[in-house]
Amino acid sequence: MTILPLQRGQLWGKRKMGDALKVLNSDDRQETLPQNLACVLKSGMCIACGACTLADPGLKLKLNEETLIYEPDGPGSQKSAACCPAIAVDFERLQNLRFPDGEISPHGVIDRVYLAQSTNYQRNLKASSGGLIKELMAYFLSSGEIDGIIGLKHKGSLLFKPDIIRSTDEIDKLPGSIYHNTPLDQALRIIKEQHGKFVLVGIPCQLEGIFQYIYLYEPSLINKIHFTIGLVCGWNYSHHSLKAICKFKGIDFDRIEQISYRGGGPVGKLVIKTPQKTVKVNRRVDFSYQVAFDRSFNIPRCHVCINHINFLADLVVGDAWLPSTVGTKTGVSIVICRNKQATDTICSLSERGSIKAVQTGTDDITESQSHNITFGDFAYSYMEYLREIGEHAPSMIGPNRKEARPVAKDKVAAFHKQYIYKRKLQQKGLYNRLWWRKCTVELPAFLMRYVRWFFVRVLKIKSLLGLRQEVPEDNLADFR
Ligand SMILES: Cc1cc2nc3c(=O)[nH]c(=O)nc-3n(C[C@H](O)[C@H](O)[C@H](O)COP(=O)(O)OP(=O)(O)OC[C@H]3O[C@@H](n4cnc5c(N)ncnc54)[C@H](O)[C@@H]3O)c2cc1C
Ligand code: SF4
Ligand code: SF4
Repeated sequence: MTILPLQRGQLWGKRKMGDALKVLNSDDRQETLPQNLACVLKSGMCIACGACTLADPGLKLKLNEETLIYEPDGPGSQKSAACCPAIAVDFERLQNLRFPDGEISPHGVIDRVYLAQSTNYQRNLKASSGGLIKELMAYFLSSGEIDGIIGLKHKGSLLFKPDIIRSTDEIDKLPGSIYHNTPLDQALRIIKEQHGKFVLVGIPCQLEGIFQYIYLYEPSLINKIHFTIGLVCGWNYSHHSLKAICKFKGIDFDRIEQISYRGGGPVGKLVIKTPQKTVKVNRRVDFSYQVAFDRSFNIPRCHVCINHINFLADLVVGDAWLPSTVGTKTGVSIVICRNKQATDTICSLSERGSIKAVQTGTDDITESQSHNITFGDFAYSYMEYLREIGEHAPSMIGPNRKEARPVAKDKVAAFHKQYIYKRKLQQKGLYNRLWWRKCTVELPAFLMRYVRWFFVRVLKIKSLLGLRQEVPEDNLADFR
């Protein structure tokens, strides 16, 4: 494998990320890009965006039987490596292409930020947060401006795949947030093969792969994307999470027919159905859930992710985890509009009465997601550490880089050691060992999370100390 100079830290200084993507047209291609995806396969950094399978049609995504993560079934070629977001992402170039008129801030390009909620009670209650995505889907489908929406559909058991949604009747049958690793190759294939204009729904890294492929190999495909609805994404889980929760709750993993992670309130319950039974698991207080959805079950790429708030989507929707919304009975969304089209869409939905929306600011993005998630504190430090120890890490410098607070190297090293150890236990199916670990050595850190949540969200300690200003209660009076 050819090692990228940028993996040795060069890129952190003078060299520009754009070079990595322009590499196929330059003379120094052998020096700047790996020859194939071998480093991605070895490190497990794939996020199953599917870009490589279009760049190199010999590749297919398959579930790795050991790690339980989707990845290509071979190393492919340099053409597939060039568009792979597990190798490099040129955020500056992609943002400039996506939002040529926008100014890039540490939160990405921002036009407006809102708190919002669907006025359709059932839709809101069933949704993962405010039900905004389904309202947006209904809005675009009834506008007559598009031929369909590319979003996830359930294809049986644990499999969810992108498909075209053409009618508003389908919307309320669609899944909410799917937190386990899902192959997205079909989204790019639809954009390539189907006629028409589409609204695309995706998590940040999926959009990284899709846009890198399009701008690098088939720029005309961009005309088929009318609008992108992005999700905020803190993490994604390998299927080991589900195997673990099935083991703890006595569920037959191989017979799962249906799964949903949210709905029924702001946090929601994980619901797993098999022919024998339906099991509901409280996501906030169930101890076994906390073990099975510990961050060690995340796919490796999530630990180096710096794009949780989706720098490339026109409009981004996340959970408004804020002190001001903690008392609401159904979910509230935080909505980031990255351009005027997105802002106009939110205004139209509000004027029609489909949603309630209150304007807020970028501080609420940071507060609702945490500084670490918003600015990549840990991720930047971890990428640097991985390179230092000779492991593969993608090359990424986001607009948030300057705001990132470095995490001490000993902490990062300790995390890495634990992560490797816990993943080995997962791959051997020793989930019980992780359960016992959580209620012994990890217990103090685990309990601190609840203490922090109580002080920050419920007691509103930052507001009491004058460190931030909440959205006034009156402004949220119309929210449930
Ligand atoms: C893996 C993941 C992690 C997330 N992490 C966070 C977080 O840390 N903080 C936060 O504020 N919000 C997070 N979200 C977003 C949040 O859960 C809600 O999805 C979002 O706020 C939109 O809510 P909604 O009620 O409008 O739509 P929902 O009812 O959630 O509808 C979501 C729609 O998005 C699409 N979708 C769902 N899952 C996926 C997927 N895995 N890949 C591609 N498309 C998908 C589907 O089309 C679905 O119909 C995450 C979402 C996912 C999928
Ligand atoms: S991240 Fe995307 S492009 Fe890279 S190997 Fe995985 S599926 Fe292929
Ligand atoms: S955290 Fe980042 S890398 Fe992980 S699934 Fe979400 S967007 Fe992708």
